[in-house]
Amino acid sequence: MHTIEKIYIDGQFIIPHGTETADLFNPSTEEKIGTVRLGDVEDARAAIAAAKRAFPTFSRSSKAERIAILKRLSAAVAARSQELTAAMAEEYGAPQYFTGFSVANASATFLTLAKVLEEYEFTQRIGRAEVTMQPVGVAAAITPWNNNYGFICTKLATAIAAGTTLVMKPSEMSAIQTQLLTECLHEADVPKGVFNIVNGRGDVVGAEFSRHPDIAKVTFTGSTAVGKEILRVGAETLKRVTLELGGKGPNIILEDADLNTVIPNVLMMGLMNSGQACVAGTRVLVPESRMAEVLERLKDGIKTFKPGESTEAEVMIGPMVSSKQYERVQSYIRLGLEEGAELLAGGPGRPEGIDRGWFSQPTIFTKVNNTMRIAREEIFGPVLCVIPYRDEEEAIQIANDTSYGLQSYLNGSDMAHMRKLAERIDTGRVVINAAPHEPLAPFGGFKQSGIGREYGVFGLEAFLERKAVLA
Ligand code: NAD
Repeated sequence: MHTIEKIYIDGQFIIPHGTETADLFNPSTEEKIGTVRLGDVEDARAAIAAAKRAFPTFSRSSKAERIAILKRLSAAVAARSQELTAAMAEEYGAPQYFTGFSVANASATFLTLAKVLEEYEFTQRIGRAEVTMQPVGVAAAITPWNNNYGFICTKLATAIAAGTTLVMKPSEMSAIQTQLLTECLHEADVPKGVFNIVNGRGDVVGAEFSRHPDIAKVTFTGSTAVGKEILRVGAETLKRVTLELGGKGPNIILEDADLNTVIPNVLMMGLMNSGQACVAGTRVLVPESRMAEVLERLKDGIKTFKPGESTEAEVMIGPMVSSKQYERVQSYIRLGLEEGAELLAGGPGRPEGIDRGWFSQPTIFTKVNNTMRIAREEIFGPVLCVIPYRDEEEAIQIANDTSYGLQSYLNGSDMAHMRKLAERIDTGRVVINAAPHEPLAPFGGFKQSGIGREYGVFGLEAFLERKAVLA
């Protein structure tokens, strides 16, 4: 049983003022595995005050000092990667391929930002002006559960590179991994108050971070609904915001696609992290001329996405994170049937042979059109919608006919042609033939998938303000 009582403020683990607790569950077994004590508004304010005190000195620290901190943070996270992987498996039931990627990525992020910082010119001359980039002020980071410590590490690494101090509110459903991660970060000997972590409810601690006048910037990853609320509340003090929100990625199979390679890619991009990924390519757009063979291959291919507990290495689909998320996914599967879509694979309920845990069957709907709610709303589970298109013009039109614009996928054989098509898709990233993640490239959404960009120099500049000095 995990009992997580402390929050991290001013370089110390302390008992929060808040007394409310939340239960923690293993989603693979539905068993209670612990409790976390939640901070309240007073704790949020104490964290902000600590970050504010640390800001004047840290914002003037040298590049060399910050690079050294980033390297120590990377080593500290890497040193406990096995424990972090285990916590992520216990808390989310995430399959091993995903936890391995996530943990490796998290420690690498600090080194990537160290390199970005090393090369970044904070000052340049433009005409008669000297233009400098200076830290934005105290920032707040609010993260979702689905890759909580990955997001914490990205936001922390970028803030440190920028010379900004930070208060963080992780997801309430990620307390075990947050606790471990905080211990790692603490061991890296970062100056007191540079980062502060407060477990707490979104509508309490998160809301205070979004509203407090001493917070200059909020960097948020989570749902579009909460992102809008943060923007609204932050407007009162004109906070800078970076919002990384939901998605409904088009996953386009082109006419010339070699299905042997494309089908596994399409399924992987659609079902990654059991579909609990903002970047999941859940709208599978298929040329009418190849529909029959694509459906046959998808039906076969999804059988290789074995559901089960994360203790088994070959498992590809874990449970939904909570009973609430399970119910939500189930309600979308029922809705799809009511809307007239047909099941190619899966359907309501748990996968065959699994009788406990919040596992939802990997599901593929056919006969979907892009006006149905299952094609328009983010389900955040292992549910794919196959949508037919007549020609590429129609494929592009359907791809862009959504309120989201985070990440899209093109799957085909003619690279030059796909690069041209990529210009016409309104998403922050277009991934061609399952190309690997590039941590230096910008990441973020068009339309209601967000505001601003993270990663590399683009993320760094989102923690900086431009100043022109004229003499
Ligand atoms: P969520 O929006 O419910 O919660 C995210 C965080 O916001 C949590 O820490 C929560 O406590 C906090 N929060 C809730 N209400 C708040 C409020 N009023 N003020 C301030 N903070 C508040 O999201 P979730 O269910 O944890 O995560 C899933 C969502 O996150 C999906 O929509 C997914 O697409 C999105 N997401 C986006 C990205 C991206 O990079 N674009 C990445 C991962 C997840």
